[in-house]
Amino acid sequence: MYRNFRDYVDVDDSKFEIHLVKENEIITPDSSSHAKLVHGLKVLLAKNFIDNLKEETQKGRLKKASNGLFIGQVPYGYKKLDKNTTVIDEEKAPFVRRAFELYAEYLSLDKVRWQLRDEGYIYQPSNKVVSKGQLGKMLKNVNYLGVLKFRDVIYEGKHPSIISQELFDKAQKSAKKDNKPLYKNHDYALAGMIKCAKCGCAITIEPPKKGKYIYCHCTGGKGDCEQKHVNIPIEEIMVQFEEAVKAVSLAQKHIDYIKQGLKESLADKQEFSDEMRRNLEAEAKRIRHRIDKITNEYYDDLIDAKFYNDKRLQWNKDLDEIMIKLEALHHAEQKYYDEGVRIIETLKNAYILYKQQSPQEQRKLLNYLLSNCTLEGRKVSYDYNLPFSYFINFDSCRKKYPGCDSNA
Ligand SMILES: [Zn+2]
Repeated sequence: MYRNFRDYVDVDDSKFEIHLVKENEIITPDSSSHAKLVHGLKVLLAKNFIDNLKEETQKGRLKKASNGLFIGQVPYGYKKLDKNTTVIDEEKAPFVRRAFELYAEYLSLDKVRWQLRDEGYIYQPSNKVVSKGQLGKMLKNVNYLGVLKFRDVIYEGKHPSIISQELFDKAQKSAKKDNKPLYKNHDYALAGMIKCAKCGCAITIEPPKKGKYIYCHCTGGKGDCEQKHVNIPIEEIMVQFEEAVKAVSLAQKHIDYIKQGLKESLADKQEFSDEMRRNLEAEAKRIRHRIDKITNEYYDDLIDAKFYNDKRLQWNKDLDEIMIKLEALHHAEQKYYDEGVRIIETLKNAYILYKQQSPQEQRKLLNYLLSNCTLEGRKVSYDYNLPFSYFINFDSCRKKYPGCDSNA
């Protein structure tokens, strides 16, 4: 407990009785304020000690790195002779060199792995083929240049280099092809969502041929369309969708406000549905009474079997009908509130969330909010789906007209 401040706070809040064996002390909620103070001080000192220890450890690491010494394990391809001496492991280093050479030729990581094996390079006796993850890490490791990287700072290493700077740079260039290009993300969020305002064809997203700009334009599938020749950078379109989300984004205080309104209107609804329920239940009671009555008459031979059966069937059907209505009423009440809460929860800080979401999630939200997205010239137009259209600029409107509080 003295080493973990959080635990102390938790335990202190609880009603536990703490027995500190070494200190020969018992702390209870009823302990004297003095005993508690001493105990609290010890915890604080312990915390200070731990913080200090962390600082010192970091300092030690930094010192080691700035002296050019590895912290902990040395990378594959090196071996430690003693605490301060790292040398090339001549058995493993050729593997590293060859891996860099192959990768510098723009082979994929996977191809490099198997090529190494085919050429007879063995990663480890137990693990002859290097894994993709390990290989990827290896090919990014600056340590092989004879330097040390510690917290994004590069220090001169005490160990020799395995590869040249030139080879390393080539490999890093090659690595770029293995990183997913940026446009794919955008592509996902918008593909197939926008139509051309002029001809109704889909707006297509063109992956970059050279450079990094992704353009959108009309496919012009229905003959030549002027929009086909308007190339718009995808960022310009993304920004417009962001604005669309921003416009219906609600802050927490407004969410609470709307929830409150929803609850109140639920109470109104309640009255209405209570009456409906009472009527339905009364009707059911009447029908059951009739069925009882006709059954007695039938057994008393007052009516014939056909009449009895026909009536019974009809009334049982009516009863089922009422039961279904009662059940539906129950669900509807619940749904009314749940649905409302779900919608406003969606809008809760929608903009902030949107910006952090994956393209697939962004797409989902956009589909939920908007329809009829079209592109004309450089401008995207869209309709808000119901009920989101009610929430457009709700936040800013309420700032502008604070008086509209009384009836939202
Ligand atoms: Zn078009």
